[in-house]
Amino acid sequence: MAASDTFACPSSADGAEPVVCERFDALGFDGKHARLGIMGGTFDPIHVGHLACAEQVRDVFELDGVVFMPAGDPWMKRGRGVSDAEERFAMVKAAVADNPRFDASRLEIDRAGATYTVDTLRALRAHYPDNVELYFISGADAVQHILEWRDAAELSRLARLVAVTRPGYELGDARRRYMRTHAAIRDVSVIEVTALAVSSTDLREKVRSGRSVRYLVPPVVADYIETHGLYREDA
Ligand code: NAP
Repeated sequence: MAASDTFACPSSADGAEPVVCERFDALGFDGKHARLGIMGGTFDPIHVGHLACAEQVRDVFELDGVVFMPAGDPWMKRGRGVSDAEERFAMVKAAVADNPRFDASRLEIDRAGATYTVDTLRALRAHYPDNVELYFISGADAVQHILEWRDAAELSRLARLVAVTRPGYELGDARRRYMRTHAAIRDVSVIEVTALAVSSTDLREKVRSGRSVRYLVPPVVADYIETHGLYREDA
């Protein structure tokens, strides 16, 4: 399906609380085959690299939409001062608002306890009919650790896995071999995304040292960071 500003997906009916997200809750319930991307990340903060990357994956795999899924409690990062989940969600929601093919989900934010991708994919699989294919998209640096994730063997049965790299980033040969041969992650697609040379870590550091993040994050996100005093030395 060609990209179009007029794209409209059937959304949750009658103002009911969405299960996944407003724009794509009803995807596939008309019986038509559909593909949904799930963009997993901490998004602290979301930036133009994430957005460009989601768009490129959407285009390559002809996805009907991409749901950004901010991790509620990224347990592997405990003690590293991850920003409040509601703040990260608010920035993601604002950043995707103007694209009818993107949305943000509260699924992981609202689920208690540590965030495990397998729980999210199970919930999505339970929600959507079989004619909806799921694509879990994340950074290659994150995905290469997938064998350490909970119930890793189940992940690629629940969704197709897409790892996005940045320019110059190469998965090590050993890792690549391992990924090819290990049954749990045999089906990872690795895609190099041109615009990903920006990272959340660098952005937080820039804000902390009083430097500009303009054009590296959408204007609404820059405003949010400023208004809420995020990532400042004294925050
Ligand atoms: P991370 O360590 O923050 O990210 C690793 C790298 O990938 C960073 O360079 C990051 O860049 C990049 N990245 C992260 N998400 C991306 C995305 N959607 N698109 C492009 N690049 C991305 O990893 P994370 O963000 O915490 O985790 C990524 C996903 O894996 C999340 O959905 C998380 O829940 C899941 N995960 C699951 C388990 C588990 O189930 N046990 C364990 C770990 C992670 P930026 O810093 O610029 O974003």
